[in-house]
Amino acid sequence: MVLKFYNTLGRKKMVFSPIKDKKVGLYTCGPTVYNYAHIGNLRTYIFEDILKRVLLFNGYKVKHIMNITDVSHLSQDEGERGEDKMILALKRENKELTPKALFEIANFYTKAFNQDIKKLNILKPTKQIKATSCIKQIIKLIKKIEKNGYTYQTSLALYFNVKKFKNYTQLAGQELEEKIKAARKEIVVDPEKKHPADFVLWFKLAGPHKNHILHWPSPWGEGFPGWHIECSAISLANLGVPFDIHCGGIDHIPVHHTNEIAQNEAAYGRKTVNFWMHGAFLCLDKEKMAKSKGNFLNLNELIKKGYHPLAYRYLTLTAHYRQPLNFSLESLNSAQNALFSLWQSLTTFPKPTRISNNYLKKFKEAVNDDLNMPKAISLTWELVKSEIPNSEKLATLLEFDKVLGLNFKKVWSNYRKIPKQIINLGKQREKLRQKKEFEKADKIRRKIKDLGYSVEDTSQGPIFKKIFKPTDLIKLKD
Ligand code: AMP
Ligand code: ZN
Repeated sequence: MVLKFYNTLGRKKMVFSPIKDKKVGLYTCGPTVYNYAHIGNLRTYIFEDILKRVLLFNGYKVKHIMNITDVSHLSQDEGERGEDKMILALKRENKELTPKALFEIANFYTKAFNQDIKKLNILKPTKQIKATSCIKQIIKLIKKIEKNGYTYQTSLALYFNVKKFKNYTQLAGQELEEKIKAARKEIVVDPEKKHPADFVLWFKLAGPHKNHILHWPSPWGEGFPGWHIECSAISLANLGVPFDIHCGGIDHIPVHHTNEIAQNEAAYGRKTVNFWMHGAFLCLDKEKMAKSKGNFLNLNELIKKGYHPLAYRYLTLTAHYRQPLNFSLESLNSAQNALFSLWQSLTTFPKPTRISNNYLKKFKEAVNDDLNMPKAISLTWELVKSEIPNSEKLATLLEFDKVLGLNFKKVWSNYRKIPKQIINLGKQREKLRQKKEFEKADKIRRKIKDLGYSVEDTSQGPIFKKIFKPTDLIKLKD
């Protein structure tokens, strides 16, 4: 079945097929490990996870590379502009300004990030690669760019000369003049810089970065790499030239990914990535959720408020990844109710038998059409409410869940058996009801409810159903 993705490069849906047989090279920009990820960041990682699962669903193997930024991501926020986010984290946490303390912080937030993605059922990348672990590759790539004539040096840095690169605005479709207006307002403007959109490939230990605690020797002096070169070097070194798909949030289109393309093509003289895919923002009160604006929430805060992490995953699947999603606790609540109700239905189904080809085909059509997850979710409900046998529903749902990632299998295997204790309590309640001791029978119903089950009285006797809680199936200590 044909697989189509919207390619930012070209601005339309295009048929996807991998460069090499059945193997897809996928690169996703990873976190800067200076703080916890917020749920806006996590929306982007869920979109990328769905993409990866859809590729796997289509029978492809996926080599997924993600960088971990532990140096060079400079803050653009008011009051701290131009400072390395990792150094800002050391200051915020009153830590010594030493490489050791920096790596401790980086490890701490990398671990926190991996715990978050695990709770959200995001498949772990094939490799996560720290920027500081590939300085050699970064220097090698910069040398290539330099050899091809795209760089110049000032006393502060080695720059990429954007005027030398003809296709600089191909991804964002902006005019260079527009880009200049949007160019970052640097706190220390380098007077030797030729063009406002020129960006740093290598920072020297000079000017504002004179005392940067991480530095390495290089042909341009002791210093540290720019942020954009990190992703170029890690992606190309691990996935080859060219590779299939590069992703991130839409904020990366005009600067980070535009600069990556410039670096890659300046080094290799050819197109290096076939598909560029971008996820839209998670918003709060119609504004982008961002740390700098203070309007953000972390996954653990949602858990503390009584939400299951997979309720957040479900919520993000109800909007298309290219549409902004406005976050509210009310919508999260509805998502959680919907998820729990799906889970409850599953637990009542007998062993899976055959897959419904009709539903599977419709599902595949939806996900293969640029990851139409709202359609996939509505098909899930259509299937659950349909007339086909429950055993077939379950077999089909387990297939769907390879993409949805909503723990259907775990839910079914952990909760389909009603615990003996509940059945015994049910029997006691029946006896009391027969003796018309309704007050005592109701007390037992409440006990059953406290143990996490509901009772429905039917002509064939009582039916028990699991009532799901936000703490089911997650290890909070993880
Ligand atoms: P950062 O750690 O800031 O580099 O961001 C990590 C990822 O989250 C990037 O791909 C960003 O584009 C993305 N991102 C940042 N803010 C949001 C948001 N509010 N909604 C969705 N994605 C976001
Ligand atoms: Zn990146």
